[in-house]
Parts: sequence; structure tokens; C-alpha cells
Amino acid sequence: MNTPELMDRRRALLGPNVSTFYQRPVHIVKGEDVWLWDADGRRYLDCYNNVPHVGHCNPRVVEAICAQTRQLNVHSRYLHENLVNYAEKLTATFGDGLSNALLTCTGSEANDIALRMAEAMTGKRGVIATDATYHGNTSLVSQLSTANTPTYGYGLDQYVRHVEAPDSLRIDDPQGFRFAAKVQEQIDALEHSGIGFAALIVCPLFLNEGFPSQPSGWLRPTEKVVREAGGLLICDEVQSGFARSGSHFWAHQKQGVTPDVVTMGKPMGNGYPVAGLVTRPEVMERFRGSYRYFNTFGGNPVACAAAMAVLEEIEHRNLKANAAKIGSLAMEAMTGLSKKYGVIGDVRQSGMVFGIEFLKDKNTLEPASGFADQVVEAMRERGVLLSKLGRHKNTLKIRPPMTFSEEHLGLLVQTLDDVLSALTPQA
Ligand code: PMP
Repeated sequence: MNTPELMDRRRALLGPNVSTFYQRPVHIVKGEDVWLWDADGRRYLDCYNNVPHVGHCNPRVVEAICAQTRQLNVHSRYLHENLVNYAEKLTATFGDGLSNALLTCTGSEANDIALRMAEAMTGKRGVIATDATYHGNTSLVSQLSTANTPTYGYGLDQYVRHVEAPDSLRIDDPQGFRFAAKVQEQIDALEHSGIGFAALIVCPLFLNEGFPSQPSGWLRPTEKVVREAGGLLICDEVQSGFARSGSHFWAHQKQGVTPDVVTMGKPMGNGYPVAGLVTRPEVMERFRGSYRYFNTFGGNPVACAAAMAVLEEIEHRNLKANAAKIGSLAMEAMTGLSKKYGVIGDVRQSGMVFGIEFLKDKNTLEPASGFADQVVEAMRERGVLLSKLGRHKNTLKIRPPMTFSEEHLGLLVQTLDDVLSALTPQA
């Protein structure tokens, strides 16, 4: 089936406003490691997808899924070793008493439960998030994203307060004290409103917000404010977890904070739907005592087999170290490009997440959002897939599978150089 026909059928069957990437959507039919192939046999370098954490169609993960599927798949009300073995291996990557796990199918569900845990622990419902983030798609969790605010109210938005997302280029807050003060303001407002403060939920690297440059420990003043108010710190590590930061297995460890709940998803099963959270036993106990919770597909033997294979692959191939190495090489290369092209306002990196912020004017810091769009489209035409993000949608989002190598980076940087040179007026 050709691409226009597929688009027509999709539109007719799925309804309007179902997003696709790119002006000319890519119709992918095959994947292997960091490579994707479209229906015409054209190969693309995948610099965007973090779900295939250990590479598209990773053989160890595929084999684990197939073997367990052949044997048994059933829900978690029957005993099965896979769930316990996985929970054991997963919680061993944490410290600070974070020793209990709960598995779901999506990151949204994990965040939804984390909010219920906060409610169970505090007896209050107010939640604080940043104003440029995304934490998922349930009725409650979707209220955390300002971009999702519907034209009519669900009534749940009264429980949510937003703080301005950090922005290392525009907001002077090198140690995180300003952010902590903003969180305090919203805690006070929630307490004053009678709703009360239950939790702050943040991605420790602020990846949806444009991954600002921050020293380790930047979140510590905020952690203190949350603790003093008796609320829970929920770290959403759906994107930042599983060693992506290059320095730590979990990004909150890089930030030097101890969350009450850590949620995870996307890369966890390399594409098999498995997500979940880790917390302290007393939080789990309070949650389990307050709600009757069951998830039909969550933590089934196949999901656990897939997730186990991902952990093994990260470990055996030393992918944390690879993220650190490639991240710093990427930073060097992007810094080189920034000397060549005036439209590059900033380059940032945190392990295997890196990007370039484009500006129209370095003095006014006016974002070049349209230019970022042009770059993303031109890269796609040249066979490199990436995207953009941040409050102004002017920052390239480069977040490849963790198996991305020096050779892949070389191709990415060369293509970027070609595209920037073609799109920028020559002197
Ligand atoms: N949290 C973050 C930080 C995310 O990026 C996402 C997905 N983009 C989610 C939660 C929601 O995860 P899911 O789509 O699996 O529900």
C-alpha cells in the first residue's frame, strides 16, 4: 500500500487530529538497532526514539519475548517467578530505601498511581508540575500538561498548580533556589485554597522542558521545600531513566535527591508495553491499604521477560558508559557547529540526550522556532530522524537508542552540518 493511500485510510478510520511526524510522514516497515527502513526501502538513522532503548528489534529482547510467549502469558494474580525476579533486579538499581515495585503498562498509569500514593500518604490532593511538561494521558495526569488544558474544564485542574519550567538560557537560577521558591509559592497557594499540597512531580532532567544545563544537586533546594511541606517528591523518569544520563542509572541520583516515588516506562521493555514505579515500602503499604489496585496486563510474564532482557542488555553492553562517551563527543561536535553557525544559541547534553537551541538573535534570545522546524524536515529528507522540543519548540531533541555509536554520531553531525549550511545565508 502506498503512503498517500495509507494516510487517507488512517484519516478516515482514526478521525481528525491524530498526529504524525513530518510534512511528508515516514511509513516505516522495518527496524534494526539504530536504523529504520521505509516502505520504499530507504534507510533512516534513528536519532529520536528512546523506546527502542537497546536498539530496534534487539535480538535478546525479541528472543525473551518469543520464548516466554511460547511458554505462558497470564496476569499477576497467579504466582510467577518473572515478576519477582524482575522487581528484585530493578529495585537493586535504586538506593535510599526505594525497594518496592509496581508494574503497569504505560507511564501515564504509573504517574496516575504515584499521585494516588501522594494522596494516600498526605490526605491531600494538590499537585505541582512545571508549565512546559508532559506526564501522560489519563484524566488526572493529563491535567498536569498546560498544553493539554481543554477548552472545557474536567474539574480536575483545580488540583494542579504550575511553576515556570527551568530555562538555563533565559532564567538565572544556577543553584535551583529560584525554582524552589516558586514551588514554595504554589505550595502556599494550595494550602491556602484548602486543597492542600500532596506532591511535586518533575522529570529530574526536565527533558520535555528542553533539558536545561544544571549542575548536579540543582533539585536539592526544591526537595527540601517539598519535604518541609510534608509532600511527596515524585520523579518521572519515563524518559530520563535506565542510564540515559550516562552518569547514573537514574537521573534523580545525578540530581542528588531522594524521591518518594520514581515512575518509569518507555524504554523499560524496548517497545513491549511495560511501565511502573518504585517506592518506599511504607508508601506502597499505605497505597495498597487505601486502594484495591489491579492491572490486568501489568507485570505479566512476557512483560517481565522483555524488561529483564533490557536490564541485562544495558549491563552486558555497558550502555551507561556508552551514553556518557557519545554524549560528550556530541557536545564537542555541536560546540564546533555553534562556532560556524550564528543561529545556534546554545548546545546542551545529558548523556544520550543532546540538542541545539536555535535563536534569531543572541542578544534578545528570540527563539528561531520556524528554523528548528526547517532543520527537522530537512534532516528527515536526508535520512536522519530527530525532533524538537522545549517551551519555544526551538531546540533539537536528539535522543537515540543507547547503542548509538561514534560512527552514527559522525553521520548525524555531518548531515546536520550540511543542512545548516544549506539553510543559513552564506557570508
Ligand atoms: N512521562 C513522561 C516524561 C513522558 O515523556 C511520557 C510519554 N511521552 C509519559 C510520562 C507518558 O507515558 P505513556 O505514553 O507510556 O503513558
